[in-house]
Amino acid sequence: MIDRLLQIVAPHHCFECGKTGDLLCPNCKYDIVEDAFSGCIVCERPTANGICSACRTTYSKAWCVGDRTGSLLQLINVYKFERAKAAGSYLADLLDASLPVLPPDTIVVPVPTVPSHIRVRGYDHALLLARLFAKKRTLRTSTCLKRYNALSQRGLNKNERLKLAEKTYTCKTQLDSSVPYLLIDDVVTTNATLRFAARALQDAGATEVWVAVIARQPLDKQG
Ligand SMILES: [Zn+2]
Ligand SMILES: [Zn+2]
Repeated sequence: MIDRLLQIVAPHHCFECGKTGDLLCPNCKYDIVEDAFSGCIVCERPTANGICSACRTTYSKAWCVGDRTGSLLQLINVYKFERAKAAGSYLADLLDASLPVLPPDTIVVPVPTVPSHIRVRGYDHALLLARLFAKKRTLRTSTCLKRYNALSQRGLNKNERLKLAEKTYTCKTQLDSSVPYLLIDDVVTTNATLRFAARALQDAGATEVWVAVIARQPLDKQG
């Protein structure tokens, strides 16, 4: 495993242009951020807040770096499946560069990862991403959001995902209604997770819930 890790993290080559030194060089990072996704993260229609009024059910703002293709796809795959924590800081950088200035009392909340995925990867990818991003912005993080069940959405269709997600997230802590909560996840597929994770925060007292994800991958475009 050490060998495999070394092979991935050193030497680094930019996933986009191949230049040595970084998994994503500053120029290519700039291009991704310049070209950041700006529509509704659910239906892609143009909207100012990342979620259009027709798709808005729980959270009121959303940000997404881009579609899960090209170098974003590769960075996320390395991050999620090859255990290279190095990729995490590049993803946090991309989030940092793609999101506006947030109120200083914003609380960053990772979407809880399926326990079996944490065991396989050796770390919790959403938690790590949330912490890296919060550190860059000097925001607080909270792991107040928990899972009721340990079931994965992998392999399920849209309706099955919705049904499962509705019964997956809970927040037992009483939340502060005066501060915004920013949910963080790496990939949005059907919006089932974000929708019900946001609802769990609202059920616990949050009034303003926003979401930030690295990439969009609609279910019909899964490879
Ligand atoms: Zn590059
Ligand atoms: Zn929409």
